[in-house]
Amino acid sequence: MPREYTRKGTTMRIIDAHVHTWTREIISQKDIEARRIAAQHNGKEPVLDSPITKLKDAMKESGVERAVVLPIDSGINQDMPLTLQEKTDWHTDEVEQFPEIRSFVGIDPRRGEKGIAELERAVLEKGCIGWKMYPPNGFYPDADEYYPYYEKAADLRIPIVVHTGFTSRFKHVKYARPVYVDKVAADFPRIRFVIAHVGTPWVDEALMVAAKNPNVSVDVSGWQIYAKGSPVKLFQMIADARLARVFPMRMIWGSDFPLFETVMCLSDWVRFFTNLRLPESMVELGYRQVTADDIEYVMWKNSARIFFGE
Ligand SMILES: [Zn+2]
Repeated sequence: MPREYTRKGTTMRIIDAHVHTWTREIISQKDIEARRIAAQHNGKEPVLDSPITKLKDAMKESGVERAVVLPIDSGINQDMPLTLQEKTDWHTDEVEQFPEIRSFVGIDPRRGEKGIAELERAVLEKGCIGWKMYPPNGFYPDADEYYPYYEKAADLRIPIVVHTGFTSRFKHVKYARPVYVDKVAADFPRIRFVIAHVGTPWVDEALMVAAKNPNVSVDVSGWQIYAKGSPVKLFQMIADARLARVFPMRMIWGSDFPLFETVMCLSDWVRFFTNLRLPESMVELGYRQVTADDIEYVMWKNSARIFFGE
């Protein structure tokens, strides 16, 4: 039996809206090197293999009922061992054994027509439930030439998760600002966009884009760093997101599993968020306290709506 989380008598159901799986067979040498650098930085060994079975074990252990895998297409700027189609198939084959885990398709829009064809194939034939974009690979998401991708995504009625904020050593943060989601979100009001990581460290920018576009949400994956080291930053982000009317209805919970496991394991991250309360000192200053209902939206209801159409 998975562990159950309750808060004021409410049993929390949990969707992890942002996870990754890989093995060393599908990542590039450059990625392996970047992982080594990042791991060294933390005095840890790099994780070169994290197949879906590892994710499944962590979900069971922590009571996470569903998860959404977000593959990244780095094939334009790196030599990848698999073609784009092979990579899509690798992920969809992996999730096939676990109906509670679904996959997005990762596509770099610089691939032109072939990328659009793959977006369509991934969704219609391979069961992918959305499109993951990774701008730090070298593109601005709002460039005119990518509009055919958004038209296709709107036709397919799929959500788009856009990575924003911090990236690894050989990718570029200048492309990763949340503001580059604003124009496309405004031009495609029917598409549901998710700004990953609340744009860290451009949190105000991410909240501004979400505040003005009702079709934009934010995910809190990666915030284990703050939960662990400086929770006041997380509390302030939640309070600011409430003022921007992004919390609770357009914030979704995620982990970026397994990337932050060494900082805070999945069960601890679940426990932290299900029990999240602002410090009394903030409430005394006028910030509204977080309720069990708020948390239920973040951990389950918003993702169920955005990703699973429920
Ligand atoms: Zn991620």
